[in-house]
Amino acid sequence: MRLLKRNLLVTFRLFVMCLCGCLIVVLFLTLFPLVEVNTCHRIGSGGAVNSLSNVIASPVLNEKDHFLCLIIPFRDRFEELNEFVPMISEFLNKKSIAHAIFVVNQIDTLRFNRASLINVGFIKSEKVLHDLGSRNCDYVALHDVDLMPLNTELSYAYPEKGPFHVAAPGLHPKYDYHEFLGGILLITREHFNLANGLSNRYWGWGLEDDEFHRRLLDSQLKILRPVNITTGKESTFKHFHSARARKRDMSICYNQQEVTRKRDRDTGMNTVSYKMGRTFQNCIDNVAYTLLNIELLCDHSKTPWCNCKDAPKVEMKRNLPRDEDVIVPIIKRKRKTVK
Ligand code: UDP
Ligand code: MN
Repeated sequence: MRLLKRNLLVTFRLFVMCLCGCLIVVLFLTLFPLVEVNTCHRIGSGGAVNSLSNVIASPVLNEKDHFLCLIIPFRDRFEELNEFVPMISEFLNKKSIAHAIFVVNQIDTLRFNRASLINVGFIKSEKVLHDLGSRNCDYVALHDVDLMPLNTELSYAYPEKGPFHVAAPGLHPKYDYHEFLGGILLITREHFNLANGLSNRYWGWGLEDDEFHRRLLDSQLKILRPVNITTGKESTFKHFHSARARKRDMSICYNQQEVTRKRDRDTGMNTVSYKMGRTFQNCIDNVAYTLLNIELLCDHSKTPWCNCKDAPKVEMKRNLPRDEDVIVPIIKRKRKTVK
């Protein structure tokens, strides 16, 4: 009898200790949440509130469905973002595509590095979704913030057969050369991993997408593009980009040209160097998105052109020798016809 009492007492104590432990964990998570939560208060279809849709634009409902993560490299484009987020979410909802939006915001003072931001977005989106209690997405869209699909025929479906370049030459309002791979590209997580993401050497505007194109081909991937789109360069997309207000950083300094004109076999998603800033769960017009503040780090001995301030002026060299490692596209200039 005594033994039974003692056993009961020990069990009871253990129970109280576990309860206290749980309470401490709950209190800690309440005070220091893993992600900032500022919910969107979306009402799901049928009037039911789906709690995940307060933090994910369009959560995946059916286990069998595909789930898309939009990865948006970003700095100082909040005007464009305000337009983009509600519009793209509506476009994707009309196609019944479950999606989460990740805005990867570069907060350091180095030159903009679109490719490294995409690498970080790819890595971090998985962790954020996990912390929010969601399944991971199985494909991503590397998506410019200022390029909006207008033609509803454009597919954003799971690109099973190979990376799908939505903003194809002939459809993109500005870029029209065969190798162009920028703007909007859909790729499965598996294929992105296979290519080890993008090169981290591209600070400033341009060439990172051309290098990525070559990586994908070297990974034996076939790049697919939309077919039967008849809206042409004028009305397939809206590119809300004023070249005057949003100047492209085309400076060249140090040995940037020599290095970045070549295929990079050393850097990629597994070498991207950064510090995480704060993560925000934000909302635009009741569409939820995640803002990831990222401080990119630069090894100045390897890529001194990550900061061109105070650098000696360098002229762009023309007619440099070409070999199979050169990734710079040859773009035929259209001759102006004299009328
Ligand atoms: N971007 C940004 N801030 C910048 C530069 C670029 O947010 O200072 C992002 C933005 O998503 C933009 C994309 O990078 O759409 C591509 O840059 P940009 O529009 O300058 O290139 P374009 O394709 O128009 O030449
Ligand atoms: Mn643009």
